[in-house]
Amino acid sequence: MVLFDKRTELDFPSFGIEIPTFDSKKSNTLSALSGNRKLEGAGSNWLIEGFEDIYTLNDLLRVNAWDYASGFFDLRAEERLISGFELINSDGTHNRWKPENASKPLRDLVPRLLKMEAGTYRASRIALDTGFCHYLGGGAHHGHRDFGHGFCPLNDTALAICKLQTERVVNGVWVIDLDAHKGDGTAAIFADRKEVTTLSIHMARGWPIDGSLSNNHPSWIPSDIDIPVESGEEQRYLERLEMAYKKLESGPKPDLAIVLAGADPWENDALPSTKLLNLSFEEITQRDRLTYLFLEHIGVPSLWLTAGGYGENSWQIHAAFLEWALARRLG
Ligand SMILES: [Zn+2]
Repeated sequence: MVLFDKRTELDFPSFGIEIPTFDSKKSNTLSALSGNRKLEGAGSNWLIEGFEDIYTLNDLLRVNAWDYASGFFDLRAEERLISGFELINSDGTHNRWKPENASKPLRDLVPRLLKMEAGTYRASRIALDTGFCHYLGGGAHHGHRDFGHGFCPLNDTALAICKLQTERVVNGVWVIDLDAHKGDGTAAIFADRKEVTTLSIHMARGWPIDGSLSNNHPSWIPSDIDIPVESGEEQRYLERLEMAYKKLESGPKPDLAIVLAGADPWENDALPSTKLLNLSFEEITQRDRLTYLFLEHIGVPSLWLTAGGYGENSWQIHAAFLEWALARRLG
């Protein structure tokens, strides 16, 4: 299943935000799937459009500290967004933000964000019911307990897992993070939680582990399995990922796997900070198929998140995976 809700689009341009992640990656992925002959006529079989969930303060408090979480619901909301989306530099200048171009006040982004985050929970429920769901959204893995950075004010993966655990719907969960950047927030939040296993394959020297943060910064907290990939080592990427899956398979089987299928390791990604990892289209397609087949083989339901992907073309990665995966499931 694919889950999409137009109300989760963050619509950065209307807030004067110039982060090059575009809502069009969701609509372009859907258009490609709708125009796919193999999926023709199967619309109601693969797409769920719209959901009612939105996170409340109580939902955030399962992961975030009171002071940080409550700020999203009072006058500190803009402050939370400015720091999470990194809109102001340490010298006070604006970073990828032109408030003079905004048509809406920044605080109006909060309900969109809380809905986008809650979609990960809804999609988890669909994945648990049907075996597979790809949510067009989510993957904000740089969100921590007390702060957000790297365009991630909150961590949707952690929020969904903690809600599902409170409801006793799941216990063991694997987080398989394939985004180019290290999944630092997720690793830190679940560092002391044995039932959640975190795996992150990422740029060995890219932000947030590029030395720009202090040595005791929580971004350095390791995942259960970290696979740092150096520039030029791309040809070993798939082999190393496969070895990590063998290691996962030797442990207890989880109730759910959450895959952050970021498109930003792609060589054509438009964010300068992803340039240390350059997988070809073929390699990134193999990455997704390998992951899907591994989870299918061991019979673990999987939720896939769009995660990072910058520029006009990142939707092509998600469309290629979903065309293959949905044809396999519906065929
Ligand atoms: Zn990323």
